[in-house]
Amino acid sequence: METGLGLVKAIAGTALNFIYPPVCVACGAAIVVSDTLCAACFQRLHAISAPFCPILGIPFATDPGPGTVSLEALAETRPYERARAAVVYSDVAQRIISRLKYADRPELARFVAQQMLRAGAEYWDQNPVLLPVPLHWQRRLMRRYNQAEEIGRRLSQLSGAEMIPGLLRRKAPGRRQVGLSGAERRRNLERVFEAAPEALSRIKGRPIVLIDDVITTGTTMRASAAALRKAGAERIDVLAFARVVTAVELPI
Ligand SMILES: [Zn+2]
Repeated sequence: METGLGLVKAIAGTALNFIYPPVCVACGAAIVVSDTLCAACFQRLHAISAPFCPILGIPFATDPGPGTVSLEALAETRPYERARAAVVYSDVAQRIISRLKYADRPELARFVAQQMLRAGAEYWDQNPVLLPVPLHWQRRLMRRYNQAEEIGRRLSQLSGAEMIPGLLRRKAPGRRQVGLSGAERRRNLERVFEAAPEALSRIKGRPIVLIDDVITTGTTMRASAAALRKAGAERIDVLAFARVVTAVELPI
């Protein structure tokens, strides 16, 4: 029975590959295995691996020794404990994210989640709750899905961690952040998120892992985590597919 079903699935998979030949998730070039990158794009995808800042997950060019944190981590406090990202935000990462967000290709979430499973390795044995950063309902209606939620759903399947999207709500559609100063962005976002204290009390004691596609300035993650803390959340970690790393910090 088991074997028979496996065979049917294998045949169905082959038939699907025939109808939809696998293509690179970034550039669309033909490849052999589905849901992955072609060799050229893979080379330009900078996966983040040790050594990196134990707080913010920013890669270090050289190993500064155990316990050393980045200047960014020292510069300011944050309402979450740790942040991790799978890759450095590059042209390839940007293409993957924009296809995921706007090109209506939710199956890309599988590839993205696989990379994030590795990046969040320190989180999974703590029985965390996955919480995708919410979109405002109007924007969600327009786009038909929230890319953070698609990633979260796939990541939940891969890691076994439960996803509970209802812990956080986006009250305002979120004005365009482009052209605003850091302080203006913060003020703009401070009022945007609202957590549900009753829902939070039901997961008491379990850490929350905030999920998003990209960390640019970190403002969205800070605002989300601040709203959760205000509603009583104790431990929050952050996980994204890509994070912006300035040229100076890029591993050479
Ligand atoms: Zn490619």
